[in-house]
Amino acid sequence: MTPRGWAVLTLAGLVVALVVAGAVLIPWGRPPAPRADQLAALRSLPVEQVTRGRAFHGALRPAAWSALAVGLLVALVLGFTPLGGRLVELAGRPFGDHWIAQAVLGGLAVLLLADLLTLPFAAWRQTVLVRYGLSTQGWSGWAVDLVKSYAVSAIIGALVLLGFYAVVRLAPRWWWALGAAGAALLVVLLSFVLPVLVEPVFNKFTPMEPGPLRAELIALADRDGVPVRDVLVADASRRTRAVNAYVSGLGPTRRVVVYDTLLREATPQEVTSVVAHELGHARDRDVWTGTVLGALGAAAAVVALFLIGSWPPLLRLAGVDGIAQPRAFPLLIALITIAGLVATPVQALVSRQVEARADAHALALTGDPGTFEAMQRRLAGVNLADPDPPRWEYLWSASHPSTVERMAAARAYARGSGG
Ligand SMILES: [Zn+2]
Repeated sequence: MTPRGWAVLTLAGLVVALVVAGAVLIPWGRPPAPRADQLAALRSLPVEQVTRGRAFHGALRPAAWSALAVGLLVALVLGFTPLGGRLVELAGRPFGDHWIAQAVLGGLAVLLLADLLTLPFAAWRQTVLVRYGLSTQGWSGWAVDLVKSYAVSAIIGALVLLGFYAVVRLAPRWWWALGAAGAALLVVLLSFVLPVLVEPVFNKFTPMEPGPLRAELIALADRDGVPVRDVLVADASRRTRAVNAYVSGLGPTRRVVVYDTLLREATPQEVTSVVAHELGHARDRDVWTGTVLGALGAAAAVVALFLIGSWPPLLRLAGVDGIAQPRAFPLLIALITIAGLVATPVQALVSRQVEARADAHALALTGDPGTFEAMQRRLAGVNLADPDPPRWEYLWSASHPSTVERMAAARAYARGSGG
């Protein structure tokens, strides 16, 4: 069998594995959150809060969609015309067209160009955040964050580019197999490494101060049978007023992180409710679920890119001989961008299912739907959420159930538990 034949077989195997893993790992059944309860919950929210949340999201929308459109346009123009290949060549020229210069500098130039052209929309978004009082960051802080994230992306990007094109040179016919394994490995590695290496670049994490709340949270985790040795507080207030908590990392790097803003804004019972939700993620191994699905998806994407990338009309458009040469990197990025558009609503759907399960866990663990609902109300108020967002926007990108869905789930739980 030819490498191409093996690639088709491998892709089929990965897609089957992805479907099976998705069927088994994703909680498809969702606890009830009747629409009638949602509407009642919506009516119970202060009118100014709902109006302000809607206005805020309305103000963000033009910047978000413009950034998406411009990013897509740049990717398509660079990828499906010879322009992108020329940019890669240009970056390698001062270094005698060496492949490493083309691969790393050319690759980073393509990525940076797309970033720079969407930069005005990121700045636009920031002006909206400031206008609505959600951002506490001045322009210098914003710029420092931007440079830091460019630096982190450049380091990871350079390593990936170098690794990928080195593999292509070592195994010109089988790079897709090594690339698929490498992509899967990279997803797993980043799950472990990002929280430990990258998050501290942007925030300072300190163990939560000893006291009744910390004791309560550790006891809650014990009761839940989730090994959490520490609860960390992130100094999120240096850039935002928004409140949040999350769990990241795997095994020994697993941590529950609470924003300092949450501790300031919410009552201890509400913080407990939020942490109970996070413990649900830890107990149901949601980081693993994301990692396994991400690794399979990344491997499948590499093989698919190899197969699509050998289609002659596509190569002619980009003015390259093969998808695996550095000059074809813009074409790769264009294909990845298109795949990303398809993946966005799918990822959002999976995320919502997982989040709804963590909510159900929080309700069961605390047995306190009243506080859960109060916490959702506060979360929505402080974060300027649209409690009941437009359906298309919800389906496109909502990572969590809407505020009214979460409140309705608490009300349904309260009825079900006789409370
Ligand atoms: Zn969550």
